[in-house]
Parts: sequence; structure tokens; C-alpha cells
Amino acid sequence: MTTETADCVPTDGLGRLGALQAAVAELESRPYSQFRTVRKPAAEIREQARQLGAEELYQRAELLLASVDLREGNIGEGGQRAHRVRAWAEEHNACYLLARAHRQLSLFSRYVGDTADGLKHAVQSVAHLRDDWPVVLRSQLLMSLSVALDESGSRADADRRAREALTLAMAAGDYEMTILTLNNMVYSAYENDDEPAARQLVAEMHEIQTRTGYRFNANELDTMARVELMGGHYDEVEALLTPVLADLVAANEGDAIAECHLTLALARRLSGRYPEAQAALDANLRICEERGLAAVRARIREEQAALYAATGRYAEAYEEHKAFHAESTALLSAQRDARARAMQAVFDANEARRASEHFREMAHRDPLTGLYNRRYVNERVPALLLEAAAGQGPLSIAILDLDHFKRINDTLSHATGDTVLQQVAELLQEAAPGSALAARMGGEEFLLVFPGVGTQEAAMRCERLRLRIRAYAWWPITGSLPVTTSIGITTSPDGRDTLSTLLAQADANLYAAKHSGRDRVVA
Ligand code: GH3
Ligand code: MG
Ligand code: MG
Repeated sequence: MTTETADCVPTDGLGRLGALQAAVAELESRPYSQFRTVRKPAAEIREQARQLGAEELYQRAELLLASVDLREGNIGEGGQRAHRVRAWAEEHNACYLLARAHRQLSLFSRYVGDTADGLKHAVQSVAHLRDDWPVVLRSQLLMSLSVALDESGSRADADRRAREALTLAMAAGDYEMTILTLNNMVYSAYENDDEPAARQLVAEMHEIQTRTGYRFNANELDTMARVELMGGHYDEVEALLTPVLADLVAANEGDAIAECHLTLALARRLSGRYPEAQAALDANLRICEERGLAAVRARIREEQAALYAATGRYAEAYEEHKAFHAESTALLSAQRDARARAMQAVFDANEARRASEHFREMAHRDPLTGLYNRRYVNERVPALLLEAAAGQGPLSIAILDLDHFKRINDTLSHATGDTVLQQVAELLQEAAPGSALAARMGGEEFLLVFPGVGTQEAAMRCERLRLRIRAYAWWPITGSLPVTTSIGITTSPDGRDTLSTLLAQADANLYAAKHSGRDRVVA
């Protein structure tokens, strides 16, 4: 590893320098589970590098310390260190160090809740990657990109990177990295609500564990608990996470313990054990405050709002939601200011902020149609439901699916199909004025959300949209092929429903619309 990284450090026969480089390379290649063994030797190497005036070596040792900080939960310290190393590496064109520094910064940004920056750093990290670098490092960088893409809602891209990372980890025979990659793929399947895929991947993790005697860490147990959560196996969730809370399991990520508490709170709420759910949230809030884990902290507030709602305390739920929204915005801008100061020496803070805002907006949009994406729906609709519950007003949603869309792709072309989707998106946008919103859920399936609108009015609006789509002058695009839609509607009369319940009801109505002949609205 030393030869690839000697961009800046002179290696002209200095025996002591050579030995230090070998030592730092060994530390860099240590598996995650041993991160606690890294701090002391890294600090020693840094001191010796300082005495020798070996700058790159010094920075490599510093970055190792940054990564230990981040994993131990010293998030602010770790982030500042990684920023300084990144600045140095950029100035000295040390691309090996630069790639690794960006990876740590990606981790930092995600911990503090800045998804957009997390993605930006991960992209930059992989942009510096070279094919002749060690396989395990390439696998790590790709995996970080995959996680950041996943959190930004680019599921397909995330999956592609994860598979590349998995192939590399397996080729290197690195079972720890393989399990880590599988773990991230499970989490992504969980977020996609794909229980069979998640269980299949968990089985692969167990298979490797049986073969190697590997011990799952807190992060991995939390992921498995989330899978049990999908199946409604709440006792399993408790069983998996109890050893973590009893401090019997290694936590290799700065936010792992907090994540576990959050999973427990969720499981307990869903199984109706409200006081226990509250206890888990209280404990978690303390951990997050101690460690500055703003990303998990945001989700605690969200969960607190859900818990209030579950116990009928709608006004408090709404207040909690609003209060936290304000708080998290403030937190985020404080982080952004701190970051801007740290980055001033390297590049223009305004540029950085604009880029980051661009990414943030992009993370909520579907690239083909410009409509909101599923990720945005998952974030926004629960808040709209709480607002509806607090104001005791209705909220309606409609799922739209194009009829026989495959025919358009197959007889014309995929590109024509895309054009149809874009045009339909425009008609949807027109049908969603004011506080209503239009989203693309995937493929040729769309969602309309109508806050404050009851069933009858929603049905009328959807009927109008259906006629508009059917009557649109499609012939320049599709020739003689018609474009029609089937629509399933459902309404929450007072906001006291969950998004998933509403989606399931609307989906059932959509199914009825398809089966009674398509091109119709079922409410
Ligand atoms: P139904 O009336 O039952 O909904 O029939 P359908 O053909 O519309 O339904 P099906 O779900 O079988 O097919 C959906 C097709 O949409 C399959 C897939 O190739 C196509 N599709 C998904 N995403 C895109 C996309 O981004 N662009 C294009 N052009 N086609 C897409
Ligand atoms: Mg479909
Ligand atoms: Mg269809």
C-alpha cells in the first residue's frame, strides 16, 4: 500500500520512514472490529512523523484517528480532523489520502444528518478511486457511496454499487467486509419493504457466521432486528437487541447504540407497549445529545410524534413534529456554518452551499419526471397526516397506474415510454394545485396527495384527471396507441391513519379498477 500512496512523501532510503509507512499501512488495513486497537499506535506514528517532518505520513495517521473518533461517537472531533486532512490532501494532490478523507467526511455528514453532503463526499471519494488500489479499500469506498446513494433515495444506483462492493469483498476473501456489505444491502431491502430479499441476505450473513465464527456487532444486530420488525416479530426484536443494551456486543459505528434504541422504541410502539417505548426514546435522547448524533435525534422526535399519535395525543404529536422541524433546521444550519468555516481555506463556502442545496433538492425529486419521489412521500405524508389529525380535517390520496404501459414500451420504444411518463407527470402536476402534491412512486405508478380534501372531492378531481389523460393528444408520441390510467383513491377522514394503511387501501382500489376493465377511478 505504501508505494501507491507515496505521492508526496520522499522514500529515499530512509529506513525509519519506510518502517513507519509499513506500520500505518497495516493500521489502515485492520478490520472494522479492531478499530479500538488503532488509536494508540496511530498517535505514536503521528508523533514520529511530526519529528521527521514526514507530512503525508502525519496526515495518514491523523485520518486514522479521525476514523476512530467517528466510530467511538466523538463525531465533532472526528469530523474536524477529517476536514483538515481533506484540505491537506487536496492541496498536495495526494489522491489516496483524499479518497479516504472524503469517505470519512461522508460518514461524518451522515451522522450529523446532512444527507446531501454525505452523498457529495462519497461521490468525490469514489471519483479519486484507482483500479490498482487494494481490493478491500475499493470495496469500502464503493460501499460508502452505496449507503449515501441509498439515503438520498437513489435505490437502483445504490444497489449497483453495493453489488460491486460485495463482489470485491468476496474476491478478496474478506468475510468481515462481506458481512458488512451484506448488512448494508439488508438495510436497504428493509427500507424498500422487501422482506423476502432482506431475509435471503440475512441468511447469507448467518451462513458466513457459521463458517467463520464471526460475531455480529451492534449495527448488524440492529439491521436484523429491523427485518424482524417487518414481519411483526416484536419478541425477536427484543431478543436480538437485549445483548446490545447490556453492553455485551461491540458497537463499531458511532451511532449503532442509538439506532438500536430507536428500533426498540418502534417495535414497542407497534406492539402496543407504550411506556416501554417511551423509556427507550428517553434513553436514546440522552445518548444522542451526549454524542451530537443529530440524524438519529431527528428520527427520535419523529418517533416521539408517532408515539403521541398512537396514544391519542394528537395535539402533542403535532407540536412535537413542528418543534422538532424547527429545531432540526436550526441544527442543520449550525452544522453548515461550522463546516463552511472549516472549509474556507479550501474552497468558496457559497459554492459549497449552493452545491449542497442542489443535491438536497435532487434527493427529493424523481430524475425522469421532476415529480417528488417515494422518499419525499415517506417523509412528507406522515407530517401532513399529523397536521390533518391536529386540525381534525381529512386527507385523501390516489394511486395512479398507467394501463397496458408495457405495450407502449414493447411496440414503440422505451424512450417513447419515457416521454409518455414525462407528459403524464405534467398533467399530474396540473391536477395537484396548492397544497396537493404529485409524486412518482416508481415505474409507471404515481401518487397524488390531497390535504384537506374528502373522498367525494378527491374522486371528482381524479375523474377529471383520468378524462384529461385519456383525451390528451397522444398521437404525435404514441400514434394509434391510447394512454389511459386506472386510479385507486382512499381517504383518512381525520388524519388518524398511517401512510402504509392508506397506500394499502388505495392499492386495493387500484386493483379493483384494473380488474373491472381499467381506465376508471375507484374510491
Ligand atoms: P397494467 O394495465 O396491468 O398496469 O399493465 P402494465 O403493462 O402497465 O403493467 P406492468 O406493471 O406489467 O408494466 C409496467 C411496465 O412499465 C414495465 C416496465 O418495463 C415499464 N417501466 C417501468 N419503469 C419505466 C421507465 O422508467 N420508463 C419506461 N419507458 N418504462 C418503464
Ligand atoms: Mg404498474
Ligand atoms: Mg400499468
